[in-house]
Amino acid sequence: MFETIEYLFARGGRRRPFIRSDFIQLVFCVIIIGFYVELLASGRLIRVENIALEYFFKDRPAIKVDSSIAMIEIGEESLRSIGRWPWPWHYHAKMIRLLNEWGAKAIVFDFFFDESIAALENDDLEKALEQAKQVYFPVMLGPKPEKKFWIHSLPVVLEPKGEGKIWTHSAAKLEKNVRALGHINAETDDDGVLRRISPYLAYGQEIHPYLALKVAYDQSGKPLRNFDELNLPLDADGKLFVNWTGKWKNSFEHYAYADLIRSYQELNQGLRPVLDPKVVKDKICLIGLTAGEFSSTKVNAFESACPSVAVHANVINSILTNQFVIPVAVTTNALCLVLVGLITSLLFVNFRNTVSFVMGLAIGVIWVIVCFLLFWFKGIWLYVFHELLLILTLFIFSALYSLVMSGLERARLFDLATRDGLTGLYVIRYFREVLNRTVKEALIKKAFLSLILIDIDNFKPVNDTYSHQAGDMVLRKLAKIIQSCLRSRRPFYEADLIARYGGEEFIIMLRNTKLPDAVSKVAERVRQAVEEAVFDWEGKIIPVTISLGVATLHPDEGVPDPMVRRADDALYRAKRQGKNRACVEE
Ligand code: GH3
Ligand code: MG
Ligand code: MG
Repeated sequence: MFETIEYLFARGGRRRPFIRSDFIQLVFCVIIIGFYVELLASGRLIRVENIALEYFFKDRPAIKVDSSIAMIEIGEESLRSIGRWPWPWHYHAKMIRLLNEWGAKAIVFDFFFDESIAALENDDLEKALEQAKQVYFPVMLGPKPEKKFWIHSLPVVLEPKGEGKIWTHSAAKLEKNVRALGHINAETDDDGVLRRISPYLAYGQEIHPYLALKVAYDQSGKPLRNFDELNLPLDADGKLFVNWTGKWKNSFEHYAYADLIRSYQELNQGLRPVLDPKVVKDKICLIGLTAGEFSSTKVNAFESACPSVAVHANVINSILTNQFVIPVAVTTNALCLVLVGLITSLLFVNFRNTVSFVMGLAIGVIWVIVCFLLFWFKGIWLYVFHELLLILTLFIFSALYSLVMSGLERARLFDLATRDGLTGLYVIRYFREVLNRTVKEALIKKAFLSLILIDIDNFKPVNDTYSHQAGDMVLRKLAKIIQSCLRSRRPFYEADLIARYGGEEFIIMLRNTKLPDAVSKVAERVRQAVEEAVFDWEGKIIPVTISLGVATLHPDEGVPDPMVRRADDALYRAKRQGKNRACVEE
C-alpha cells in the first residue's frame, strides 16, 4: 500500500518518446471518454449538473434588475389588516383605480376572480377594469376535477382525475375587459425545483403565452403575436430557464397591498400617505399572494419559498434586461467533454503521477472557471460535473495503468538481469547471491542444504559432429529435463534453485535436503531422466548423458565455497570413474 502511494506521489514526472504502451493507454482513455459521452447523452447525471447550475446562480455577482418592476404582495401583514382571503372584489377594484391614477404601466394579477362568487359581488370591479387599460389576468391549465355524485351513500365518479385537463379562467364578465391573458403554470423538475417555464401552453382550443412573457413583450413595445416570434434561448424541451436574480425580496421592489390601499385612503382624506404615489409610477405592478399559507411557493436556486409573482418578476426582468440562461445543445456539451477528455488523456500519457495529478487538478479548475465565466458574462450554461468526473476517472485509470506497466517492466528487467538467454535458467551471479544467503540462514536454523554440480559428458564431440546449433538444442532441452525433476513449483524460499554454471555445466541448490536424499531422490533421478530422454537433431539421435557431483553443507559452515569445492571434486571423480554417474563428497 505504502509503495503504491509512494509511487503515485513521490516520483516526479517524466518525458520520454511515445511508445506502444502509451498508444494502448490512449486507446483506453478514448474508450473511457466514449463511455462518458454515452452517460451525458443518457442524462443520468443531469441532477448533479443542476446542482452545479444552482451554485453558478448563487456565486454569480448581482446582475442587472430592471427598475420598472414592482411587486404588490399580499403577505401576512396585508391579510391581518384587510381580513381573511379571498377578499371582497371592491378592494381589487380600489387597487386597480389607484394604480391607474398613480400612473402604473401595467397591472398584473396572479390570482383568479372566481366565477362562483361573482354573483355576490357588485359590478365595481367590472367598471374599474373597463377604465384601466393595461390589466393582465392569469389562466391556468390543470387537471379536470372529478365529477362525483352519491347514490345510496356510494360515490360514483363520472370523470376520474387525470383523464382530461381544463383551463381555469376568471369570471368572464371581468376577463373581457383585460388587456391580455397569460398562463401561470410553473411545473418544477423531478427534484421539486423550479428552473424552467413553458413559453406557451396549448390545450383544446386555447393557446396562452406565459403571463410574464406576455407582459414583458407588451411593455417593451414588441407585443407577442405568435409562437414563431419568440426569439428565446429555449432548451431541448422547448422551455425557458428562469434567470434568477437572487432572493426575491432583495431583488425587486415590493410593497404591501394593504399599505397601498391605506395610502390611497389617506391621500383622499388629505393626509400624508404611507407610500408615495411615485412608487408605482411607470411600474409593471405584479399583484400576488406571498403569504406562505396561500401562495404556491416554489423551490429555486436561492430559496425554498419563492412565490409565483416572484417567478413572474424574474421572467419579466430577464426579457426587459435581455439576460437569459442559455442552455447549450447536448452535442455541444458532448463536444466539450471529448475535447477536455482528449487534452487530459494526452497529458496523462506524457506525464506521470505527481505531475499528471497536478495537471488533472489544473484542468478541472480551469474547466470550472471557464464554465462559470461563460455563465456569468454570457449566461451560457455548460455542463461542469461530467468533465470533472471524466478527468478523475482518466487520472485513476492512468495511474493504475502506469503502475501495472512499470510492474511489468520491472519484472522484465529482473528477468533480463538474472536469466540466461539460452536456457532460461538463472545466471550464476544471481545463484551465488541466493546461495550465500541460504547458507547463512541454514547455519542459523541448523537446516540441511545440499548441492549438485552437473557436467554433460563428451559435449565437445556433440558440437563437432552435429553442429553448434545442435549443441545449443541439447543445452535447452537438458535444462528443461533437469528442471522437471526438481521441486520448482514451491514458493521461492522452499524451492530448489538451478542455474547455468558455465558453458555446459549446471548447479542445483537443494533446500532442507540431506545428502542421501540429494543423491538418491534427485541426482540419480536427474541422471536417469537425461539418459532416457531422446535428443533428436534433424532425424539423428544424439546420445546425451551427464555426470553429477553431490555435496552437502557441513554443520559449522557459514560460506558455500567449501561445499562447492567438494561437489566439484565429486564430479571430477564421476568423470574419472567412467561418466554417466553421480558421485558423493567424501
Ligand atoms: P567431458 O565429458 O569430460 O565433460 O567432455 P566434454 O567434451 O564435455 O568437455 P567439457 O566439459 O570441457 O566441454 C566444454 C565444451 O562445451 C566446450 C564447448 O564446445 C561446449 N560448450 C560450452 N558452452 C556451449 C554453448 O553455449 N553452446 C554449445 N553448443 N556448446 C557449448
Ligand atoms: Mg565442462
Ligand atoms: Mg562436459
